[in-house]
Amino acid sequence: MSHRCMPLLLAALAAGPSALRAQTSDSITAADVRSRIALLASDALRGRGTPSPGLEQAARYAAREFQRLGLRPAGDSGYIQRYTLVRSRFVAESSTVSIVGPLPRRWRVGRDVYWLPSSGMAPRELTGRPVVLVGVPSDSLHAFAGTDLRGAILIQLADDRPDRPGTPMWLLRAAAQAGAVAAILVRNLPPEQFRASMAELATPRLVRPGSESFAPFPVLQMQDATLGTYLAEIGIAAAGNRPVPDTVEQIVIPETAVRLHLVERILARRTAPNILALLPGSDSTAEYVTLAAHIDALGVGRKLGGDSIYNGADDDASGSAVVLEAAEALARGPRPRRSILFALFSGTEHGFWGSEYFVSRPTVPLARMVAFLNVESISRNMPDSLAVLGKARSWLGAAVDSAAARHPELGLTVLGDLWPREDYFAQSDQQMFAVHDVPSLFFFNGVHGALHAPWDDIRVVNVESTTRITRYLAELTRELANP
Ligand SMILES: [Zn+2]
Repeated sequence: MSHRCMPLLLAALAAGPSALRAQTSDSITAADVRSRIALLASDALRGRGTPSPGLEQAARYAAREFQRLGLRPAGDSGYIQRYTLVRSRFVAESSTVSIVGPLPRRWRVGRDVYWLPSSGMAPRELTGRPVVLVGVPSDSLHAFAGTDLRGAILIQLADDRPDRPGTPMWLLRAAAQAGAVAAILVRNLPPEQFRASMAELATPRLVRPGSESFAPFPVLQMQDATLGTYLAEIGIAAAGNRPVPDTVEQIVIPETAVRLHLVERILARRTAPNILALLPGSDSTAEYVTLAAHIDALGVGRKLGGDSIYNGADDDASGSAVVLEAAEALARGPRPRRSILFALFSGTEHGFWGSEYFVSRPTVPLARMVAFLNVESISRNMPDSLAVLGKARSWLGAAVDSAAARHPELGLTVLGDLWPREDYFAQSDQQMFAVHDVPSLFFFNGVHGALHAPWDDIRVVNVESTTRITRYLAELTRELANP
């Protein structure tokens, strides 16, 4: 044995005996990767919108594949886990916001009040104590430390200036966590802009009842001219001032309640599928490693460049192909110690409907999930690199690097988060698992001109690099499942 061979052998021994056998990923071929992406992203599936017949067709295909591989069904009914969607219309003309107390007042939604349609399903009646927040607290962890927000409706005097934080999403989440039941944002928008947004209210929309992915509770908007003026009348000094003062203040209004009466009419009920399969492990600890992607895309939409089918080849037929190919490779290999869950979620493009539902009704215990790997849009940018977001958040970061070091033949450089300011980690399914303390990683090679466009079809896909990335992710999954 020459001196030069030593480090290689040491690496093989450190990886355990399986590294001396044929590689897990031998069955992963460019032809398979290409045909899976081409099938999912074909015009026949019409962009796999949630919900749609094309999405159901994609789900049947994935379930058939999992069955063919001999994987165990991990949905509620076979490989499928179904969640409910509702098509509804908000009835602004019947909806009101009232103040009950020494100085009562009532405003109409659609005229004085805008209801943010992306915030969940409207509750019919909701009453809470008003707590006024001036400005934005700097500390997101202790934003409401000194104030009792239980059962409160938060009224935020939002700072509209372009360089200001406005109303950050974390502020709404922190308020919900502290017990607030709704929020009203007081803004100073040009009146014509405020009126124009009201027109959207009448447009029917799809909701997943119970979804909190946009906001954890109902969010409404009112103008300074209405609610701001009222608050100034009852002596809240900061109200009506523009710009909003920089000093952060939380003011509890005594002997007063805010009452929301919101009417939303259900027009139709639908369902959409997640597709879930399990490769059972041999360990008695029953821990799980999950490899996931989203199988939905944007469906059929506005015609652009002569095409209206948003095929979603890179986003995220590529990730779905990784999951299916890795499942095939791992199902053929030796039984792993930890179980491996293969998950294809739908509704991701609408705000993580499928993954959010899964974490609310997990089919394997979340507390036993030691790794969640989400793969999205990895087939176009950076053919010789793979960006991995969330490496610093858990023990998984080190495994990502060592798996890459053990497979130099793949010619892949594993990178960290190249876009920390964009917070892409929070923008896909792994966020749903990370908030439940599941160690999570996001494999994502960044945005490009075809993302969310009708020309994100098979022609943008680099099949050769996607095949190497698929092999890498199969090896990584196998290593994580064999500690
Ligand atoms: Zn996507």
